[in-house]
Amino acid sequence: MTTGFEKLAQDGAARLGVIRTPRGEVRTPAFMPVGTAATVKAMLPESVRETGADILLGNTYHLMLRPGAERVARLGGLHKFMNWERPILTDSGGFQVMSLAGLRKLTEEGVTFKSHIDGSKHMLSPESSMEIQRLLGSDIVMCFDECPALPAEREAIARSMRLSMRWAERSRAAFGVRPGHMLFGIMQGGLERDLREESAEALKAIGFDGYAIGGLAVGEGQAAMFDCLDYAPGFLPEDKPRYLMGVGKPDDIVGAVKRGVDMMDCVLPSRSGRTGQVFTRRGVVNIKNARHADDPRPLDEACSCPACRSYSRAYLHHVFRAQEMISGMLLTWHNLHYFQEIMQGMRAAIAEGRFAAWEAMFHAQRAEGDIPPL
Ligand SMILES: [Zn+2]
Repeated sequence: MTTGFEKLAQDGAARLGVIRTPRGEVRTPAFMPVGTAATVKAMLPESVRETGADILLGNTYHLMLRPGAERVARLGGLHKFMNWERPILTDSGGFQVMSLAGLRKLTEEGVTFKSHIDGSKHMLSPESSMEIQRLLGSDIVMCFDECPALPAEREAIARSMRLSMRWAERSRAAFGVRPGHMLFGIMQGGLERDLREESAEALKAIGFDGYAIGGLAVGEGQAAMFDCLDYAPGFLPEDKPRYLMGVGKPDDIVGAVKRGVDMMDCVLPSRSGRTGQVFTRRGVVNIKNARHADDPRPLDEACSCPACRSYSRAYLHHVFRAQEMISGMLLTWHNLHYFQEIMQGMRAAIAEGRFAAWEAMFHAQRAEGDIPPL
């Protein structure tokens, strides 16, 4: 079996495809739920699968600190450890070192930092990130890179991007030849078109199995992100998957796919599920709102997830207010189900050449807003 990406159809810039791995196929456009600490919070792995997810994302930074990559390897690898036998993508740890760790020191070699858990000192470099992701057993490995927060000076973005490109070369060398596993490069360059192109050229010269668009969804806003996505995917090879990291809200996801993105990940559906924020076809519903207290209707009558099939808004409101665990479980399930339903809807629309009509319907339903209170 060949490991890799095949584009099956295209409608405008939107692409339908499949990533084949020894652990199964990933249908694209794909949304990857985030399993930060070897779990998608509040969900059993089989439930995550039931929502339609083909692949999960694991966080190198979290797993290297706790329980430790060597321990996971001794216990048979991340798939076995967390009971998810399908594909897993791991990030490089770079982004979270920058956002979570204390006392960071960035050099050409890599980043030294203190754990946010116990203050212990660690080092991440292209070489150590490749080794940790190998120990975890990740199917799709990400290059170690630096992601500057926006807004930033053009000079700082250029300097950071060129460092990431040198790290990409070292990541490629350290990854070596590993049949059945893929290594993705990460494009940087902020909102500067020429820097994005320079970054893409550098990555293509090294050669990767897939290409991520990094450094977006870091505070620039949707309009600026879409402006960048109007050109950035076009700098990348046609025949390789394109992954937009850390995105996003339902309308971000649809806009990204429309512009030629194949894969995305975000904590939003699971994190929001724990804070009472629900994503539906008709926009966002805040379940803690008093209007739901006596409402016997489901969140979304057209949704087939367990939260909508078997529970009322009144019950979901009650268990959220009472801080019962089932609240996070049901709302996370619904949110993940809805995100996967969006992906399935887009895949079907691209296959049939009706993406524009699907997108118009998506926006029209959202514009209606939530069902009126009783
Ligand atoms: Zn539902």
